[in-house]
Amino acid sequence: MPSSDAPGNRDASIGGVMSDPAPPSTVAAAVSGSRAGTGVGEFEEILKRLIERISRILQAEKCVFLLYDAHRAELRAVLPAFGFTPFEVYQLRTRVQSNTLSSHVFRTGDSAIVSNAKSDSRAMAEGLARRFGVRTSVSVPLTVEKRDGTSQSTIVTTIGVLHVFDKAGGAAFNEDDVRLLRSMSLNASTLISGAQSYRAAVQEKQELISTIQGLSIGFVVVNMSGRILQVNTAARYLLDIPVSFPTVGMYYNSVIHHDVLCSIIAAALNGDAQLETSGEITLSVPPGDDDDADAEVEASERIYQVQCSPLRGAEVSGIVVVLNDITVIRGVERMKNAFVSMVSHELRTPLTSIKGFVATLLADTQGFYDKSAQQEFFEIIDAECDRLTRLIDDLLNLSRIEQGHAMQLVLSDVDIPQVAARVIAAQRPTAESDGSTLVMNFPDEFPAVEADSDKIEQILTNLVGNAVKYSPAGGEITVAGVVDVSTNVVMIRVTDHGIGIPREHIGRVFERFYRVDNRDSRDTPGTGIGLYLVKTLSEAHHGNVRVVSEPGRGTTFTVTLPMKQPRPEYSAST
Ligand code: ADP
Repeated sequence: MPSSDAPGNRDASIGGVMSDPAPPSTVAAAVSGSRAGTGVGEFEEILKRLIERISRILQAEKCVFLLYDAHRAELRAVLPAFGFTPFEVYQLRTRVQSNTLSSHVFRTGDSAIVSNAKSDSRAMAEGLARRFGVRTSVSVPLTVEKRDGTSQSTIVTTIGVLHVFDKAGGAAFNEDDVRLLRSMSLNASTLISGAQSYRAAVQEKQELISTIQGLSIGFVVVNMSGRILQVNTAARYLLDIPVSFPTVGMYYNSVIHHDVLCSIIAAALNGDAQLETSGEITLSVPPGDDDDADAEVEASERIYQVQCSPLRGAEVSGIVVVLNDITVIRGVERMKNAFVSMVSHELRTPLTSIKGFVATLLADTQGFYDKSAQQEFFEIIDAECDRLTRLIDDLLNLSRIEQGHAMQLVLSDVDIPQVAARVIAAQRPTAESDGSTLVMNFPDEFPAVEADSDKIEQILTNLVGNAVKYSPAGGEITVAGVVDVSTNVVMIRVTDHGIGIPREHIGRVFERFYRVDNRDSRDTPGTGIGLYLVKTLSEAHHGNVRVVSEPGRGTTFTVTLPMKQPRPEYSAST
């Protein structure tokens, strides 16, 4: 009864003989997994002629060989065969550990003559007479010899079994037939192992090609005369080379239309190709497939590092060009540089102002400035000192977070309206001088919230400070509180009527060092860490921060905080 080849069904063999209604293997398929390899096809053709010759010389009606499949621990017949139908070839397979004729010859390495397949126990176990009409047989192992380079010894490996069946005229095979078959089997083994090595090389090459094709970095190989040997999918995409456009064998500069990249490749080819050549290029990369098809997504400018390395065989035969996306690295470097210059600027501005007012007061030995003018100077100095303290606090917090320190909260019952009043009082002079009014709107019954008071003050200071900063035309700035008793959270909303945040930037404003760089905001000083800290501090309280904004109309930031912090879980002990 035919059995399926499904793994769970492999035991469905009778006496070590397995049958399967699937198409037969060929030596090409057995060694290459497909018939696609032309080289393996040639091996198969030569092997077919050899099998026919063996049958003719031994005056046999049938000749077939089985190859060892280590993965399945079985011997299976493969095409080409002589005197067997393809289906019979597929049916002829046996477990290595069974007591069939094929297994016996394979395991012992001995030849075998069977003069009556109907009575020989090994032939019977394999069903040779019953299933294939075999009467007599001579069988030899298929062996390959390999020289071990280091020990100079010869290693013999058995790769299968060669059977010749049914001598013409009904005679039995004899020892001369064994000798003849043994010598001819060597040619067959050499051919088969040649096909196997060829297949391994082809497979290795194909794996390498698919690895290169699947790389997310761009990869181009050019020979020393400037002709392309390989372009992977990523490189095609980046260099805008249509999939249908043939590249192999073309001159690189007729395929790659990027002057800087071509000049880097030319330098690598013309100069000393032994050395690595590198450079940086900017590419306009089309939007990916996963981008929203409806949205208008423009190609983005990305920075690529180009690295040309020699393609070494016995000698340098070309160059490998690798395109690596370094946009993010360059972006972070740019942001860090901008951050350093921003911080220096932010520190210098209040210091210049403090120094100016202190110098004025010191120089006023004649009492030119009256008490109220002096008071005004002191208030400005005081506000500038606060600004410096805030900046330094931000920097300290940032560095703590950067170093991976967990945010330590000093928890108490915080009266948030009181904190908000403090923040508003501190920022009122700056706000008023900018034409903004600060308004507080908290319900009377606003509950105490378990939180770190200093950190809440820092959150509000940053949000109110931004509201003032990004409302150049002034307007009302509200700090409002909302209580949601059903979920046990409070919300603090800071609303302004300032410049707003453009849609394309809104998702990024909470990123470290991120600043909106446009006409409206460019001249406003800042470091790009305020909102990052607001987010980190809110999350440290198991809360979050959200933003809604409309360019030209204003922005609302909402910080949501639980009224009580979740308790760490302790395991009960008795
Ligand atoms: P910065 O020091 O630049 O103000 P933040 O992290 O506090 O850094 O804010 C990040 C960016 O978000 C700002 O550069 C600004 O472009 C934008 N932004 C923050 N708050 C507002 C606001 N209230 N109105 C408009 N834009 C804002």
